[in-house]
Amino acid sequence: MDPKDNLLLAIKEEVINCKKCELYKTRTLPVIGQGNHNAQIMFIGEAPGANEDKTGVPFCGRSGQVLNLLLTSVAIRRDNVYIANILKDRPPQNRQPAVDEILACTPYLLRQIDIIEPTVIGTLGNYATHFILEQFGVAESQLGISQLRGKKFAVKSKQTGKSYTVVPLYHPAVAVYNSHMFDDLKKDFQVIKEVLDTHP
Ligand code: URA
Repeated sequence: MDPKDNLLLAIKEEVINCKKCELYKTRTLPVIGQGNHNAQIMFIGEAPGANEDKTGVPFCGRSGQVLNLLLTSVAIRRDNVYIANILKDRPPQNRQPAVDEILACTPYLLRQIDIIEPTVIGTLGNYATHFILEQFGVAESQLGISQLRGKKFAVKSKQTGKSYTVVPLYHPAVAVYNSHMFDDLKKDFQVIKEVLDTHP
């Protein structure tokens, strides 16, 4: 087995048994992450919704359909990327993640990032963008997503010194009923593609 598989499996087991916040009491399945353990692109969303809670698979509902279309638009296969969320468990009624839940859950995500070592991290929406930019010490981390989207931020992991390019993106949910937003997202996915194509 690839050493990455073992490390990610260890995280999966920890998450299944995790009681660091109250969300384990109300979720059905945790949504740990899905995709290629050697992915060059990692997408980070907010939290599982109702469909994800039932299946344990990230972005498998409406937002997931938009994400799939965006990946197709830049000829990237979903099974070549890795997808995770800020929270592994669904907040009841899809409410926004609470600060204590983010604090409890994101150490798992940061370990996943450093194991997978993607070239690009695409942050989907405000929560993922603010958390990741703040975590990596980017001064602009508190700007709104409409100012940050499609920009490239070169960052370094505090734990491992590994370098990543973060590209903030709108959350795919905003494009479910809005074709303008879909066009903006499509443009920003081109930025991800460019980073990959120019990566040595
Ligand atoms: N929205 C998210 O942010 N994550 C999912 O996995 C599904 C919907």
